[in-house]
Amino acid sequence: MTEETRSLRGECYCGAVSYKVRDAFEYALYCHCGECRRRTGAASKPFAGARASALTITGGDDALLLFGESGDGYHASCGKCGSLLYSLVRDRAYVHVTLGALIDPPTITPAAHIFVGSKAPWDVICDGLPQFETLPTDREPRGTVGRHRTGDGTPPHCEARARQHRARPTAAET
Ligand SMILES: [Zn+2]
Ligand SMILES: [Zn+2]
Repeated sequence: MTEETRSLRGECYCGAVSYKVRDAFEYALYCHCGECRRRTGAASKPFAGARASALTITGGDDALLLFGESGDGYHASCGKCGSLLYSLVRDRAYVHVTLGALIDPPTITPAAHIFVGSKAPWDVICDGLPQFETLPTDREPRGTVGRHRTGDGTPPHCEARARQHRARPTAAET
């Protein structure tokens, strides 16, 4: 390391596990696949990928729960509160850090939505970022550093959907 890269702090919900990761992410995406949805309990998982060496556990190493261990990698959650913190992937060479558990904001921001072909039917994506049925190919964008893509290609039904929600009574089921 010739140059000092800024480190970002992250921690789980209960605070038992903390880590730091160098702000050296190579790509960032929202994954809508069924596995990521179940691991996070959310519509999608925003994550950023870096070399595995970028991540250091700074507290609660013994509280880490590793799931699905194989030669390829594993998913690491807090064993006490269940927060999904990161996954080791690609023969353990890369770490996918879940952005929601970061305390400090990363320089990179998610550039696209992946596995949109298996997203939940109620999940409406309205941010105008590129969407891929599964994974983007090498020719397509995988990360946007310091640059937000907005406006281009926002689906027209997003604005209609927003109007519909505003018009609908909130206590319709009572
Ligand atoms: Zn925890
Ligand atoms: Zn996924």
